[in-house]
Amino acid sequence: MLFITASRRRRLRNQPFPPSWERILEQEVPLYDSLSITDREELKAHIQVFLAEKQFEGAGGIVITDGIRVKIAAQACLLLLHRETDYYPGLSSIVVYPDEYLAPFEELDEAGVVTSGTDRRSGESWEQGTLVLSWADMQMAGVDGEGAYNVVLHEFAHQLDAEDGITDGTPFFPRRAARKHWQRTLEVEYERFKEEVAQGKIPVLDPYGAESPAEFFAVATEAFFENPGELKEHYLALYEELSRYYRQDPAAWPATISNGGTS
Ligand SMILES: [Zn+2]
Repeated sequence: MLFITASRRRRLRNQPFPPSWERILEQEVPLYDSLSITDREELKAHIQVFLAEKQFEGAGGIVITDGIRVKIAAQACLLLLHRETDYYPGLSSIVVYPDEYLAPFEELDEAGVVTSGTDRRSGESWEQGTLVLSWADMQMAGVDGEGAYNVVLHEFAHQLDAEDGITDGTPFFPRRAARKHWQRTLEVEYERFKEEVAQGKIPVLDPYGAESPAEFFAVATEAFFENPGELKEHYLALYEELSRYYRQDPAAWPATISNGGTS
């Protein structure tokens, strides 16, 4: 079974990449522009596997096009470059809404009181099976006054975080020492970040990251790719940890030097 999966994926990776998809990458995915030729080829190979294996579903009247599929796949697969990957094994379908959507929630506080209602959301990642995205929010990727923003990178970081069975801000590490190193670094950086948010400092990271270590990892992933120069300047240890995990160094990408990391 594993062998069949591996050979099927190899075949998919070697298929010719459709020129219409290439145009979508060039015109709709600013981060693609920053990648080296080798990374672009690796990304395109991953996109072929990703699109063959994941289901897309339109909700709220949106029709799923190749533009939507390729744009999501490209950003999801950016997080997989240079690493051994099983292509988000817990994920089977991606639901896309045209805009923010209402989702029911139920919350249990420390006193045991349950609150329920509806939330406006731009995306969410479930531990089993599904990821939800707002198309309008996907168009807002970049850097604004609230820090770096990229809903696709954010939700797919949650998927990586869940791969070891628990969404706690620490993704899967094959080596225990690397996992420990990550946990120590992120704990210190998270506490520092929460203090800065409390003091109202100008954010490099989306203040929403102060909600929990899991949200901190997700917003740090957004900044790592969307605003790497500033992230490296203000949170060097965090940047280096992310760089070891993602095996990439976006602060050294040519486009990020000329435009200050925005896209
Ligand atoms: Zn989140």
